[in-house]
Formats: sequence, structure tokens, C-alpha cells
Amino acid sequence: MTIKYHTLGCKVNAIETDRLRRDLAALGFDQVAMDDPAEVIVINTCSVTKQSDLKSARLIRSALRQDAIVIAMGCYVPQDLNDQVLVIPNQDKHRAAQLISDHVGILDRSGSILSEGERTRSFVKVQDGCNNFCSYCIIPYLRGRERSLSQADILREVDRALANGQREIVLSGINLSSYGNDTDTDLIELVEIIAQREGIDRIRLGSLEQVIITPDFLQRLKNIDAFCPHFHLSLQSGSSGVLKRMNRHYTPEEFLDKIDLIRSTWSDATITTDIIVGFSGETKEEFQETIDFVRRARFHKVHVFPYSKRQGTRAALLKDLPGDVKKDRARQMRQITEAIQAELLDEWIGQAVEILTEESYGYTRHYLPVYYDDELEPNQLVMMKITGRKELSLHGLPILQNH
Ligand code: SF4
Repeated sequence: MTIKYHTLGCKVNAIETDRLRRDLAALGFDQVAMDDPAEVIVINTCSVTKQSDLKSARLIRSALRQDAIVIAMGCYVPQDLNDQVLVIPNQDKHRAAQLISDHVGILDRSGSILSEGERTRSFVKVQDGCNNFCSYCIIPYLRGRERSLSQADILREVDRALANGQREIVLSGINLSSYGNDTDTDLIELVEIIAQREGIDRIRLGSLEQVIITPDFLQRLKNIDAFCPHFHLSLQSGSSGVLKRMNRHYTPEEFLDKIDLIRSTWSDATITTDIIVGFSGETKEEFQETIDFVRRARFHKVHVFPYSKRQGTRAALLKDLPGDVKKDRARQMRQITEAIQAELLDEWIGQAVEILTEESYGYTRHYLPVYYDDELEPNQLVMMKITGRKELSLHGLPILQNH
């Protein structure tokens, strides 16, 4: 599948396009030159001035004329093209590669993108749609109600990935936790069935909602050797008032209980999350509640998003906070959560971990990135001793080569 990228605006956009380019290359997308036709065109838009809006809109329209699948991300949201363009809201940017490959996978009936590319891990879509209607999110309107893929289709995809040599299966969905609600099964049952497939080394779960975390769910995961103890649980805010306005049905205390439950099952489980700061009407006190929350929860990584209004959602009718307040809160939140992330990474120094090699780095079972200097074949499980940390990544030495 060929792809090209247009990036407008700030450095953050440039960095994000770069990351997306890498992720999609790993999923088998081939980048082509700007002048060449591409099957997929990604436009990372900007909305800082009226001019940027116009330029973003122009690029989107020109891409549509090229008979390509058009993806718009970034701060400019096209108002009238929702049925022709996949719009990735800012709060979903971190999983843009997954959303794009899902979207293209749906349109590309041959499903060929899933069988190409040099990859170690395969994202297997098991679910689509969402019934939650969080007040800031457009996805339920764009993707429709929850529906689970059939077990036969999922297992076919898993087997294809394993036959391709991919060792890690990541189960993903728009609202993965709801898998099976419509087909009288559930996610844990699916994981147990997939774990029995021949040749599977690692099973990972995509983003989960806290409601799925129960003692039974965790215990059954713990019994699965291939399961990787990394939980991405969407928090969004640590303030009960904001959570209510977001239409998210849990309190910060309930969320903390779920974290405790995970940590009492695996003392070293990795727990990551997403937080939206500067949501409509977020007061200083409410923001402080979220800061207090992250200090207690100690997440291994937090994707911080300054709130960005999405037309067509209920929250878009609420009054927005000034841009500089949102920006400043995002900066503060990143500073705090990255300091915690660094402390938690330091706890791994000196330990032996298994990584699945990619190019010059690999991920541990806990989904921590480990860089290495040695020349190692990609797609191998290698034991490494963690020798140090550089910024927010670990550095390691293969144990066998250095005894
Ligand atoms: S759970 Fe909320 S944020 Fe996630 S897709 Fe559904 S509506 Fe959107």
C-alpha cells in the first residue's frame, strides 16, 4: 500500500508525522515521492491562523481529487468532509497508525497490508465501534456502534501473522474492552483461545477501559505464559467533576482501585494512560486533582493531550479554555509524568529482560523500549541486561554475548 504525507505547521506536527511514518512503514506501508500517486494520503493539518486553515482545507480537497484514501490529523478539522476523510482527533494521535491501518484494512478488501512488511508484531483488529459516547469524542459517530469480529476471522488473522513470522500479537479495537458484548463472549476468553495457537510468543492488549479490570480477568491473564503485562488504561482526567462532564463512568478512586488490583497481581506490571488537559471548564483545582492523581498512580507513561474541540460532539457546545492555558497545563503535566516515567525506568537498571528485536531497539514484555549498540537480527527474542537509561528509553547489552 503506497502512502505520502503532507505536514503543515509546528514542530510537534513534524515529529508526529515522523513517528507515524515509522509506525506505518513497520505495518507495510511504502512511502512514495510527493509527485507520485499514492493510495493513501495523510495530511497533518494546522489551524494556527486562518491562512493555515485554508491551506489545510486546500490540501485535503486536492488529495480527494487524487482518488486516494485521505486521512486528516492535526488541529484543523474539516467540517463538511467527514464521510470522505478519516479524521483523527488530536486525542487519538498516539494511535494514529492503528486507526489508519484499521481504516485502510476495512477499505482494502484483500487485507494485503497485514501480510506485508518486515514486522515483529501484528495488530489484529478484533472489534470496531463504540457505544460510550464520551462527550469529547467523535468516534461513536464516525465508526458506529460496537461490533465484534467473529472468532473465526480473528483466528485466521492471528494464524496469518504467525505464519508470516510475527511473534507478537496485539489485540486492538476502538473499544477493545467491549469485545464480545454483542456475540456472547468476552475478551479474556478470546485471549485464552489465541494463547493456544502454535508458535505464539507474545500477546498484548491494546487500550482498555477500567471496567474490564476484575480479579478474574487478571488472574486468567496471569495464567497465560505469552501474555505481556502491560496495561494501557484510558484515564483522561483524575478529577471526578471533569470525568462527569466527559461522560466517563468512573470515579478517580475506582480507577485507583483497578491500578492496585493490577499491581497486586504483577508487582512490576506496566501501566500507561492517556490524559486530556484543559477540557472545557477544567478549573485550576480540577487540574490539580489530576496532578495529585498521577502522583499517586505512578504511570509508566502518560500520553498528554491538550483538549481540542471536535465539532459534532457534545463537548463542542461547551465553552473552551484559552489556548495558552491548555498549552501550559499540558507542559506541566508532561513534566511531572515524565519525571515519574524516568524514575520507574531506573528501577529496571541492572535487571535481565527479554526483548523482541527491531532495528537497534526492541521492546520488553512490559513494553519498555530498550536500545542496543550490537548488531542483532530483527525479530529475535534476546535476553538483555539493562545497563542504563537515556532520557525515556533504556539501554541494554545482550546477555549471551557478554556473559
Ligand atoms: S470510549 Fe470514549 S474516547 Fe474511547 S472511542 Fe468510545 S467514546 Fe471515544
